[in-house]
Amino acid sequence: PVALTSESPLHPRRKSRRIMVGPVPVGGGAPISVQSMTNTLTADVPATLQQIAELTAAGCDIVRVAVPSQDDADALPEIVRKSPIPVIADIHFQSKYVFQAIDAGCAAVRVNPGNIRKFDQVGPDICKAATDAGISLRIGVNAGSLDKELYAKYGGPTPEALVASALKEARMFEDVGFHDFKISVKHHDVITMVETYRLLASKGDWPLHLGVTEAGPAWQGTIKSCLAFGALLAEGIGDTIRVSLSAPPVEEVKVGCKLLEYMGLRPRKFDIISCPSCGRAQVDVIQLASAVTEGLKDVTAPIRVAVMGCIVNGPGEAREADLGVASGNGKGQIFIKGKVIKTVPEDQIVDTLLTIANDIAAQMEADGQVP
Ligand code: SF4
Repeated sequence: PVALTSESPLHPRRKSRRIMVGPVPVGGGAPISVQSMTNTLTADVPATLQQIAELTAAGCDIVRVAVPSQDDADALPEIVRKSPIPVIADIHFQSKYVFQAIDAGCAAVRVNPGNIRKFDQVGPDICKAATDAGISLRIGVNAGSLDKELYAKYGGPTPEALVASALKEARMFEDVGFHDFKISVKHHDVITMVETYRLLASKGDWPLHLGVTEAGPAWQGTIKSCLAFGALLAEGIGDTIRVSLSAPPVEEVKVGCKLLEYMGLRPRKFDIISCPSCGRAQVDVIQLASAVTEGLKDVTAPIRVAVMGCIVNGPGEAREADLGVASGNGKGQIFIKGKVIKTVPEDQIVDTLLTIANDIAAQMEADGQVP
């Protein structure tokens, strides 16, 4: 289920119109949804459904599946029927799969008009089919597949070129009375991407799907996505996000959910505060912080646990934490809200922290603090 938070503490959200992706609202002040895309063969229905289940468990709100072949299109009805979250069909080149995806009950279809053959002719039919089925569309403009004429006119996939492409497609939809679509204008370069979305956001009230395309492996891709989404979300721009990583899709969802949590746009779950350690550290903070994070990674209560390397500065610096440890002389001082409650031997620190953290989390749940 989509989280309840919808307003940004940093900036009022841009006023966009609302569309529905199945039961998930996108735009119009709705909570920002997290999307991902399966990387199984879509035609392999069990594998695709298994991956969708993993993505859902990690917090994914909407899933996209690629439909490059007839076998994939034929698999859509069963995937849609059995998926716990709305399914978007991602279609390039072949408009016939768009109609099949709509018939299959997909919650939305992503089209890249720049590469759909004869889009000028089939566009109105796609809009009519989507209207009749009550589903939404996404215009997905990508730097790598920009319309050739626009590429030549602007000398490359510049923000102006990407936005011109999006506006051209948007007008085509709107000219036939179709308004239930969102837009993405993805680029792999953070600065170009941010400038492109800013420009697009100034041109109309379409809901915007944020993405840095081909962002790279997990480490680089996470940084690029957090920078780009962070900059835009801090300005109130963005209605749904997809982190693209050359990594298992579940990692995309984890990054997307955490990013929204840290932006104050999703209720926060477990968070760790740990010091970087320094010459004063009397314990292996890195190892301790990893063990605590691993032990509490599935906790949904908004608990903050601190792991500090020394007793001189630890408890004071981590006063904001619900619970924490400061280590010294082979022992760990366990503190709650900055007050030491007990001291345990070093080899009992992790178990003690996990036990108390789970107790606090259970209490938070009982008190209704877990959305
Ligand atoms: Fe260094 Fe202690 Fe601060 Fe950690 S808490 S960074 S060990 S002074």
